[in-house]
Amino acid sequence: MKRYLLILLCALCLLAGCTGKPQSQTKELFAMDTVMHLTVYSQEDGVLKQGEEEIRRLETLFSVTDENSDIARLNQSKGQWVTVSDETARLLTLAKEYAKQTEGRFDPTVYPAVMAWGFTTDQKRVPSQEELDGLPTLVDYNQIEIKGTQVRLPKEMGVDLGAIAKGYAADRVKALYEAAGVSGILSLGGNVLTIGHKPDGTPFTVAIQDPQNAAATLGVLTLKGGQAAVTSGDYQRYFEQNGVRYHHILDPKTAAPAKSDLTSVTIIADSAAKADAYATALFVAGKEQALSLAKTLNVQAVLVTKDGQIHCTDDVQFTPS
Ligand code: AMP
Ligand code: MG
Repeated sequence: MKRYLLILLCALCLLAGCTGKPQSQTKELFAMDTVMHLTVYSQEDGVLKQGEEEIRRLETLFSVTDENSDIARLNQSKGQWVTVSDETARLLTLAKEYAKQTEGRFDPTVYPAVMAWGFTTDQKRVPSQEELDGLPTLVDYNQIEIKGTQVRLPKEMGVDLGAIAKGYAADRVKALYEAAGVSGILSLGGNVLTIGHKPDGTPFTVAIQDPQNAAATLGVLTLKGGQAAVTSGDYQRYFEQNGVRYHHILDPKTAAPAKSDLTSVTIIADSAAKADAYATALFVAGKEQALSLAKTLNVQAVLVTKDGQIHCTDDVQFTPS
């Protein structure tokens, strides 16, 4: 009798193991100059590590500060053709495409302006007006020439994929996890991407930060499986000089921090790279043009204006706090 009871118990345990919901595991890491969280619904060891390795691999291709990266070599090339990896050539092609679609508000050749403000260094500074006046002519995505894996940029120009690389990395990790049959949610410094569905069937939700108060949220977005939600905001990176705040999202037309009436833009789309590039572009565009651009580009958006108003495009599932 005792033996049968034991067999029954074992069978029940096995059954519970089969039907039980997979527990989530999360990894926090610092990469691409930001804090990232990878969460997966899987008990398999090594899945999170795989995601981390993918992000680190991409960082070695796209970093502007790692002098051996494809992008750093391109930036040092003084007008010569440079051989880059397939993947870098593809991301540059995609970045040019998004630049064209956003009429240059997102422009991956913004690097000379980023450098002038010291944003990639510890020495942030306000460039002189003379310096600023010369910069916009050095920002023009049309000047990136791509032939297979050969890339060329005019002398003095430079590329910075900071406004799209985190989104692209999220898309790559998602592809990897999908191939492994794993669901979860990724957060790569303001770039959130969902993979599949939660095991309990409830939708993924993402809080939108209150730009005025890091400890508060404005509300919660409900996402469909596979959707990305990417936020660009003037509160994310900035420095202050003589009481004036200078943020990191530059207007390619002026080479200075965009004088936008927006303080944050969240884009919801099917690709995180796309949402990342568009979020930066729509921030530069300002509220009115951002609303019409979101329509043309066929993405959903949540815009927060400097005076605290929230504007959502149609179909956004947003619940204010
Ligand atoms: P994000 O946080 O995605 O809005 O990207 C901002 C980062 O991308 C900055 O730190 C710069 O390195 C770079 N960047 C700034 N302004 C632009 C722009 N208008 N287009 C493309 N990249 C930009
Ligand atoms: Mg961006």
